[in-house]
Amino acid sequence: MSEFERQRHELVQHLRERGDIRSERVLAALARVPREPFMDPAQAEQAYANRPFPIPCGQTISQPWIVARMLELLELSGDERALEVGCGSGYAAALLAELARVVVTIERHAPLADTARERLRGLGFAGVEVRCGDGTLGAADSAPFDAILVSAGGTRIPPALKEQLRIGGRMVIPIGPRTEEQRLMRVMRRADGWHEESLEGVRFVPLVGS
Ligand code: SAH
Repeated sequence: MSEFERQRHELVQHLRERGDIRSERVLAALARVPREPFMDPAQAEQAYANRPFPIPCGQTISQPWIVARMLELLELSGDERALEVGCGSGYAAALLAELARVVVTIERHAPLADTARERLRGLGFAGVEVRCGDGTLGAADSAPFDAILVSAGGTRIPPALKEQLRIGGRMVIPIGPRTEEQRLMRVMRRADGWHEESLEGVRFVPLVGS
């Protein structure tokens, strides 16, 4: 086992023991997907510190705990069509690809989208479709989605994303007037409409779009 693998298993064990990630499926995905290829090489040796790190374009690679928490809230069984808004490094998209059948991920910064696309292909996640554009508009041509993961914090839930959620589907999104006041929201779409749950406080880089 390499040093990175050892540290990765230690992080997963820490999250399991802390008890805030209950889904063994999510923990197993976290144990399989390396984080160091998604980091700035200068910081790669810290890949398994449970914290966010800077990536280019002034953005961040999310903290493993929060990615795991959001994936757990999506309750994926493996057969879903999933959309991510805010691809960034591509780390969360890789985890999503371990847990769902189809993954489309959108990033507004072209350099990040290009790097993530190449990186995901190199790691064997060739099926993940990385698009460059405004993710608040979703991906109408690939909708509806069973699961939508929004990896940046907005002030309100983008209406296009609500529309592109399949009946029976779930979306997890940080919402708040500013970074210090965000809460994780889960939106479930049922036949009678959208049901929202407000969950724990979180801190994400801003969701910038229409
Ligand atoms: N999931 C990423 C987290 C990256 S941070 C990871 O694991 O690394 C969030 C990303 O959302 C940033 O890269 C930011 O550029 C992007 N973003 C913000 N608003 C966006 C929008 N409207 N459409 C697409 N991407 C957006």
